[in-house]
Amino acid sequence: MNASIDTAHIQALDSAHFLHPFTDFKDLQGRGARVISHADGIYVWDSEGHRILDGMSGLWCVNAGYGRRELADAAHQQMMTLPYYNSFFQTTNVPAVQLAAKLASLAPDVGDRSFQHVFYSSSGSESNDSNVRMVRRYWDLLGQPQRKVIISRLNAYHGSTMAGASLGGMSGMHAQGDLPIPNITHIGQPYFFENGLPGESAEEFGVRAAGWLEEKILSVGPDKVAAFIAEPVQGAGGVIIPPDSYWPEIQRIVDKYGILLISDEVICAFGRLGHWFGYEKFGYKPDLVTFAKAITSGYIPLGGVMVGNRVAKVLIEQGGEFNHGYTYSGHPVACAVGLANVALMEREQLPQRVHGDIGAYFAQRFAELNEHPLVTAAETCGFVAGMVLIKDKRAGTRFAEQDAVGMVCRAHCFGSGLVMRAVGDRMIIAPPLTMSRADIDEMMRLIYLALDLTHAELR
Ligand code: PLP
Repeated sequence: MNASIDTAHIQALDSAHFLHPFTDFKDLQGRGARVISHADGIYVWDSEGHRILDGMSGLWCVNAGYGRRELADAAHQQMMTLPYYNSFFQTTNVPAVQLAAKLASLAPDVGDRSFQHVFYSSSGSESNDSNVRMVRRYWDLLGQPQRKVIISRLNAYHGSTMAGASLGGMSGMHAQGDLPIPNITHIGQPYFFENGLPGESAEEFGVRAAGWLEEKILSVGPDKVAAFIAEPVQGAGGVIIPPDSYWPEIQRIVDKYGILLISDEVICAFGRLGHWFGYEKFGYKPDLVTFAKAITSGYIPLGGVMVGNRVAKVLIEQGGEFNHGYTYSGHPVACAVGLANVALMEREQLPQRVHGDIGAYFAQRFAELNEHPLVTAAETCGFVAGMVLIKDKRAGTRFAEQDAVGMVCRAHCFGSGLVMRAVGDRMIIAPPLTMSRADIDEMMRLIYLALDLTHAELR
């Protein structure tokens, strides 16, 4: 129990005043929100004293784990030196410059798409709005203003602003607020478990799923398409890991029609897939890379877009003033924390750990879940993982929506002291990259516990 927090009082104030994101407001009037009081390493604690292993790294962002003093020190020092100044009107600040140069040095060169420039925001959503504006500006400047359409994927998540939610392919979000905005359209996701045909291999499916992009380009009209946006691995949609054949075929198609490729790496960058950037894992060549979340390990809001040379050259040489920006673009404190976080990740070799031994151990242990009677299609990509909870494994029968199997399992995870997320009948996890083998063993023990309880409840 955290003696300094009066849980009932905070919960009452919470439901009286705080409109939570992605929450049915009425739910919190009854049972009250869980009050998270503090955190350390891979654990968070609630105000009633429960210790919970944070298998989701907050919201896919606390890659370096909790309690990292050097990140707090970097913020404190920068606040005492220069807490804020804007980067409009031909002014700049040292941490923003240093971080932009650092990111440019970390992003591997991919020919004419090499990344030398960064546009800053404070979140993934804002960054994707910036992408829409930059992409349309790029084609305007090239004398092709009719190229406005951005193609995305169903079940993608690209944020909650009007453009972000429109780029995303979440039907529940589109149903609220007249979305998508014009000139955004969607294709299917490369989800082999759900969309593979009988007798079709994963690799055949990957090529077929990429082909939906070509079909869409042809139906929209190739001269009207500005860009394709996608996450390397679809995260919030349920950790949809594409077959290896998918990205090379996507690359072939975007190259064939000359359209821009936007890699939304708000989840997949900064070590999550075992590389600094997610596109390295799959070997494709984006023009723009969206980042946020783990650039600061979530300690302070910061986002942005890595702008490849193909786009940057046109914006810089032909663009004149770009009428777009945020008060907090290049915020000195956020950038100072970003620099400290990248330094920490380099020193502790977090991307390399995920790429190497520790990632392999996680993959091996997670794949063992396929032996559990409730589980199929358990797989990892770096430090993201997903599995399907299945009703009858032998017959291949899935749970009905009203069984709410994911929510049942999620509740048992919480009860067992583990955060895992449910997306329909999929359970997903994205733990901090600092995990030891012993931590992975403990996480697996908790997963098995929650699965056994779920199995017993639904039998
Ligand atoms: N893009 C992706 C791939 C995301 O996963 C998210 C958030 O989860 C966003 C964009 C939106 O980021 P933010 O919540 O910082 O606006």
